[in-house]
Amino acid sequence: MQYCFMDIIFATNNLHKLREAQEILGEGFRILTPRMLGIEEEIPEDAPTLEGNAFIKSKFIWDKVHLPCFADDTGLEVKSLNGAPGVFSARYAGTEQNSKNNVIKLLKELQGVKVRDARFRTSVALILDGKTYTFEGLLNGKISLAPSGYEGFGYDPVFIPEGYNCSLAELSPGEKNRISHRADALNKLMLFITSITS
Ligand code: IMP
Repeated sequence: MQYCFMDIIFATNNLHKLREAQEILGEGFRILTPRMLGIEEEIPEDAPTLEGNAFIKSKFIWDKVHLPCFADDTGLEVKSLNGAPGVFSARYAGTEQNSKNNVIKLLKELQGVKVRDARFRTSVALILDGKTYTFEGLLNGKISLAPSGYEGFGYDPVFIPEGYNCSLAELSPGEKNRISHRADALNKLMLFITSITS
C-alpha cells in the first residue's frame, strides 16, 4: 500500500476505540479527537441504526470543523436474541453505558440457550469534502458461558471469535486488531482513502 499522511478526526471520546483505530490505521494517519480540538459536547447518537449513528456522529464533527472525519458505531448481534442488543448495545442494561452490567444482562438472557452464535458489526461513516462514505466491518463468533480475560473493552470478555477457543479479551491488542470488526471496517476506509489520494 502506498504511503499516505493525513490528519483525520475520529468522532469518539472512547479511548479504547481511539487506541485500536490508531494501531489499525498506522503511521500514515494522525488521528485527532473532538477533545483535542476543544469540542467537549456530548456527541449525539440517537439514530435507530448503526449506520445512522455513525453518520450523525461524523456529521456533528464535520459541521463544526469541516475537516476529514469519521465515526464508528458498533453493535453486538446475537442470533438467538434476534439480533439484539444491536444498535442498543451500549445501553443494553439501562440508560447509562456500563459494560459490566451489559455483560451480566447478556449472559442472563442467554442462560440455558444452546445456540450462542453472534457477531460484532461496525459501521464507519467517513466525511471528506462534505461527502459521506460508509464502510462495514464484521467479526463472527459465539458468546461464552462466562467472562474471561482483561484486554479490550465492552463485550470482549464474553465474545469468542470464530476459529479461536478464547475470548477477545484474552487476545493481545495486536491480535484483536488483526481480526476485529473495527479493523475490517477501517482497513476498507484506509484502502479507499489511499485509492483516491494516490
Ligand atoms: P458504541 O459503538 O460506542 O456505541 O458501542 C456500543 C457498545 O458496544 C458499547 O457497549 C461498547 O462497549 C461495545 N463495543 C463497541 N466496540 C466493541 C468492541 O470492539 N468490543 C467489545 N465491545 C464493543
